[in-house]
Amino acid sequence: MKILENVDLSAYSTMRLGGKARYLSEASSDQELLRLVEWAKSKKQPFIVIGQGSNIVWRDEGFEGLVIVNKILGRKVLGEDSSGATIRLGAGENWDEVVAWTIEHDWGGLELLSKIPGTVGAAPIQNIGAYGQELSLVLVEAEALDTKTMAFGAVVNDACNFGYRTSRFKTTDKGRYAITAVTLKLNKDQPKPPFYESLEEYFKDNGITSYTRQVVRDAVAAIRSAKLPDPSAVNNNGSFFINPVVGKELADKIASRYPDIVSWPTDDGQVKLSAGWLIEQAGFKDIHDPATGMATWKGSALVMVNERASKTADLLAFKKKIVDKVNAMFGVNLQQEPELLP
Ligand SMILES: Cc1cc2nc3c(=O)[nH]c(=O)nc-3n(C[C@H](O)[C@H](O)[C@H](O)COP(=O)(O)OP(=O)(O)OC[C@H]3O[C@@H](n4cnc5c(N)ncnc54)[C@H](O)[C@@H]3O)c2cc1C
Repeated sequence: MKILENVDLSAYSTMRLGGKARYLSEASSDQELLRLVEWAKSKKQPFIVIGQGSNIVWRDEGFEGLVIVNKILGRKVLGEDSSGATIRLGAGENWDEVVAWTIEHDWGGLELLSKIPGTVGAAPIQNIGAYGQELSLVLVEAEALDTKTMAFGAVVNDACNFGYRTSRFKTTDKGRYAITAVTLKLNKDQPKPPFYESLEEYFKDNGITSYTRQVVRDAVAAIRSAKLPDPSAVNNNGSFFINPVVGKELADKIASRYPDIVSWPTDDGQVKLSAGWLIEQAGFKDIHDPATGMATWKGSALVMVNERASKTADLLAFKKKIVDKVNAMFGVNLQQEPELLP
């Protein structure tokens, strides 16, 4: 268990910005994780568990404490029958490699979540989702070290308080549970229509009428790569803003001025607006800002890209330009999706 000092955090965020961590270490087992948290507590240092940093923006001030990088691996089939399989995965496993592995075994439930960057352990934090599927639909339980009681235990699905891109791990119990493993229940059903709109379009355009899990995975990969930059080559955190939910009155007001508004009604009578559409209308699609070195992606205005920014302050300055313009035009306040830490 080696604890490094003054580590550059830009290597631990796919936006590749940020200051230094006072301490940083990797946990490859439950016991290592426990010892690291005990060490941080004994030194009265704050600590945080991270995966691959694909949903993190580090501040320039860095992290005055211990960053624990989760590297706990392991894939185990707990049971399999004609209806499906129950699998247990170490939290440090790469999410998309696991998705590919489940498809090789012809287990269903994860194919729509193909190509989401990051680790298995981070998946419950914001209840990762895409194309109408989300983790909460297949998760049985998340095993975790409760850093308050210092006991290992399982948080069952119903107790995770999952919602749209959220869970108790991101809200009421933020920072409390260090997730060590998850158990998923997968099925053996064949994928069948109706699919999410963009997938239906893709299948139609490509004359695809037979839907295996691999066909669905390939389609998701193709749609995503046309829209989203690969974080291993382009510095980004995926969608940078959450789709804002506004009252019907404001949505109607915007729609009267912009009839092509992209929006969806919510169950509680409000309206969810497409953040990408708002940003595009504000003139920020494929914009390269010389003052900050930041840009928005050509395939999606929702994605902010660090082209040559050297500080998180540059990112925040560029973000402010977008947020202010959208606010001035529409009266809508955009919220950031990736976590700004600490
Ligand atoms: C190009 C791109 C596309 C993306 N597309 C999607 C998408 O379609 N859908 C979607 O939902 N997300 C998407 N994301 C966001 C991101 O992939 C997910 O949030 C992912 O789950 C983050 O995994 P990570 O390992 O990188 O977590 P990190 O960024 O390292 O951490 C994210 C948060 O989880 C916490 N955390 C991480 N691991 C643990 C653990 N073991 N225990 C406790 N807390 C932990 C961290 O403290 C932090 O708060 C995208 C990101 C990118 C860059």
